[in-house]
This record gives sequence, structure tokens and C-alpha cells, in this order.
Amino acid sequence: MTGLRPALSDRAMDAPDPARPGLPEFRAAAASITGAAIRTPLIASALPGMEALRLKLDCLQPTGAFKIRGALNAVARLAPGARGVVCCSTGNHGRALAWAAGRAGIPAAICLSALVPEAKVRAAEALGARVIRIGTSQDEAQAEADRLAEAEGLTPVPPFDHAHVIAGQGTLGLELIEDAPDLETILVPLSGGGLAAGIAAAAKALKPGVRVVGISMDRGAAMAASLAAGRPVEVAEVASLADSLGGGIGLENRLTFAMCQDLLDDVVRVTEAEIYAGMLALLEGERVVAEGASAVAHAAVLAGKIRLTGPTAALITGRNAAPKQIAAIAARAPVRLGDITVEAPA
Ligand SMILES: *Cc1c(COP(=O)(O)O)cnc(C)c1O
Repeated sequence: MTGLRPALSDRAMDAPDPARPGLPEFRAAAASITGAAIRTPLIASALPGMEALRLKLDCLQPTGAFKIRGALNAVARLAPGARGVVCCSTGNHGRALAWAAGRAGIPAAICLSALVPEAKVRAAEALGARVIRIGTSQDEAQAEADRLAEAEGLTPVPPFDHAHVIAGQGTLGLELIEDAPDLETILVPLSGGGLAAGIAAAAKALKPGVRVVGISMDRGAAMAASLAAGRPVEVAEVASLADSLGGGIGLENRLTFAMCQDLLDDVVRVTEAEIYAGMLALLEGERVVAEGASAVAHAAVLAGKIRLTGPTAALITGRNAAPKQIAAIAARAPVRLGDITVEAPA
């Protein structure tokens, strides 16, 4: 099996992919999202022994996740006369796109399969989006999004593998280095890789020596598995406390796989028990309510999988956990996920 990209020695001579966002695109995105997205605070960790750790609280954004950065930038860059936007998303991206389109007065269609819980359907509808419930899988919902794009002339805005979305997420990298020029390491939750690719490209453009580490759960992490395999691969989706980190990267991935391959310094994987401990540390130690995807950096540090050797930032990406799950973790009760039960740390 050959890799998608040529050997490292040849690659160094490659011209950078013109579709990849660079510093001008990150700066333009920052200008476009100002006033809608918040410049979120970077606060010191309150946990003993974690003085080097700072938390970038992007969970404070409207809709409860950083994804409005990419969605706002994609909407700002629509061609004049665009009829609207369409996506297929079960999670934070759909909500972000509905919100960004609503703000711009542009129609948004969000395609969701029958598997998506009613609460998420109502959340997208409450933001003024047209919600289309179709099929019984993500693939069927995606097929409908593709059909609508074609039939109604809507512009597809995918959740991660898109230059404008990556540029929007990359504004986090600019803010981190501008607000903390001493940062040595940035810890980023990793799923489709739009966030990690954007942050790594933007932060390294300002500070080439900064290390960027992606963190995923140990089961069902498509980008982590793809980077290990050297090409995009499919993984079986399994329930996780970090549900926002599930889903594939697309076997035809255009940008995020190659960008993560080139720009991430390391990828670390954490177990569900470690994510539980991370969520507990966020709640009890930091007094921050966040979803499992946002707890992977704490999970990795507490498990000894990452050592804090200098100023380090952890991206706290979202707060859209079910209140019942937060309550269970605060009470140190077991959490049932599909066929597994995750116990509190001893
Ligand atoms: C989408 C998401 C991520 C991961 O972003 P990718 O660009 O898919 O890697 C992390 N945390 C939260 C809360 C998210 O919604």
C-alpha cells in the first residue's frame, strides 16, 4: 500500500497546496468574524501542579462551541447572490452554520438522519434553519445535502474539509500566539482536523517553533487512525464521552489530512476512563462546564501521556454536553454509553 503523499524527501520540495489557507487568509478570517465571534479568554489552570497550563475558553462562543468561527468565515465568503448554505451535521457544526447564516439573513438547510435526537433537531430549527430529516444514517443525510446543493443551488459548507472553514478555525491560532507569545505547546482536540489544521498553520505562521499536539479518543478516531496508516481510512463509529470527536474524515479528504500530516507534532489518544477524569478535573478543579471533547487535554495530562514542560494552552472547544451527563460526572456516578459503562476514577 502506498501513501497518498510522496516520500518526505520529495515532499519538502513540493510547492504548498494553493488551496491551503495561509496567514493572509487567517487574518482576513479574523476580520470577518470580529463582532460576531468573541475573542475568548485564555485563563490559567486552577489545578495544583498545572501552573504551566492555560485554558482557551472557546466553549463560551454563541451556540456553545468554536465552530461558529469557521461557519461565519464561510458565510462571509459566499459568492454574491448565493442562494443559501447546506450541510449535513449531527453536532456543533450544524448549529453553528444555522446561527451564522441566520445572522447574515441567508437561508440554511441542515440535513439530519433519523438517528439524531429530537433535542438537536429543535435546536437547529430554533435558529431559523430548515431542518430536513432524512434516512437512517449520516451517509443518507449527506446524499440529501448533496442533492439539495445541486437542485436548489445551495452552497455546501462541510464541517472541516474546506479552506474557509479551516481559515475560520485558524483564528484561534492567531489569538493564542498574540495573547500568549510565550506558548511552547498547544493541545487541540482532534476529529476531522479542521480545528487542528487551522490552529497549527496559523500559530506556526506567527511562531514557527510552537508545538501542536492533536488529541483523540482511543476508539473510533478517524484522523488519528488515518495519520497512523499514512492515508485516510474509515473506522467504526463507537459511543464516546467525546461524542463531538466522532465521524469519518472522508476517503476523498482534500485538505485536513495532508495539513495534519505536515503540521501536527504529535497525536495522543485517551481512553474513556481518562476522558471521564478530564471532565471531572474541569468541573471540580477548573469550575468549567464543558463537553467530553474539551476534556481530552486534561485527560492526557492527568494520565501522564503529555508532560507540561513549558507554557501550554488547552483548547476548551465546546460546552454542549447533556446536563444529565454533567450531573452524573459531578456525582462520580457511572456513565453508560451504548454498550460500555465508564466509571469515575478511584
Ligand atoms: C468539531 C469539534 C471538535 C473537533 O474539530 P475538528 O475540526 O472536527 O477536528 C472538537 N471539539 C468540539 C466541541 C467540536 O464540536
